[in-house]
Amino acid sequence: MFLKFLILGLLAYLLLVLIYSSVRRKGKATGSASSEGEPMVLDPHCKSYVPKEEAYQSDGHYFCSEECARAYGAQQV
Ligand SMILES: [Zn+2]
Repeated sequence: MFLKFLILGLLAYLLLVLIYSSVRRKGKATGSASSEGEPMVLDPHCKSYVPKEEAYQSDGHYFCSEECARAYGAQQV
């Protein structure tokens, strides 16, 4: 009975280690163009999500392009 729990615990631990190592590998690849661990930001003008690194930042907002930033700024005034 105890051995069964021991094996189950060991399997759960191995699974966690596998998941953790794969997550870490994804997070490390920030230099590449398409990494899944990248934070996404919402463009308040066209309501589309863009990777934070590629986003155009203006007035504390993130935009997909400079045009959106300008259009949004014009809308606010
Ligand atoms: Zn946009």
